[in-house]
Amino acid sequence: MGEQHIDNGVLTCIGLGANLGDAGAVLRAAQDALAALPMSSLVAVSPLYRSAPIDATGPDYLNAVALLRTTLDACVLLRELQRIEFDHGRERSIRNAPRTLDLDLLLYGAESIATPQLTVPHPRMHERAFVLRPLLDVLPAASIPGLGAAAGFLPRVANQRITRMTP
Ligand code: AMP
Repeated sequence: MGEQHIDNGVLTCIGLGANLGDAGAVLRAAQDALAALPMSSLVAVSPLYRSAPIDATGPDYLNAVALLRTTLDACVLLRELQRIEFDHGRERSIRNAPRTLDLDLLLYGAESIATPQLTVPHPRMHERAFVLRPLLDVLPAASIPGLGAAAGFLPRVANQRITRMTP
C-alpha cells in the first residue's frame, strides 16, 4: 500500500473521522492523501467503524486508523494532516463542530511530544472506543507512551456505541 516504500522512519498512527456529507468517500479520499504524503508510506488502514459523536453534535461518525511509516518530523506531519483536513473543507471556527474530516496524530513511534501545537500521544485516545478499536485492528500490540498497552483500555470504553462497518 502507499505510493512509495519507506523502510526507515517512524511508525505513526493517525486517527481519521468524518461525519458530514458522504463520510465514506471523504475517508477514502483522506486515505489516498495519506498515501501520497512525501517521505512516507501507508502501511495499513483499519476497517471502518460507525460511532456516536462524543463531546460533539451531529450525525454519527465514520472512523478508521491508519498506520503510516514516515521520516517527516512530527510537526511537519501535523501540518500535512491539517492541510489534508483543509483540502476537505473542514470548518475550524468552532471547537468540536461537525466537520468534514478530522485527522489526529495519535502515536509517533514511542515518542512523547508536548508543544503548543502538538500533544502526542493524543491526550484522549485511550478514552475513545472509536480510536482504540480500529487501532487494535491494525496494531494489536499498540502501546501508549506513559499509559501502557492500548488493549488494556478497551474495557473502560465498552459502554460507547460503535459498530464495525467492514470486515
Ligand atoms: P481538534 O479541533 O480537536 O482536531 O484540534 C485541533 C488542534 O489540536 C490543532 O490546533 C492542533 O495543533 C492541536 N493538536 C494538538 N495535539 C494534536 C494531535 N496529536 N493531533 C492533532 N491535533 C493536535
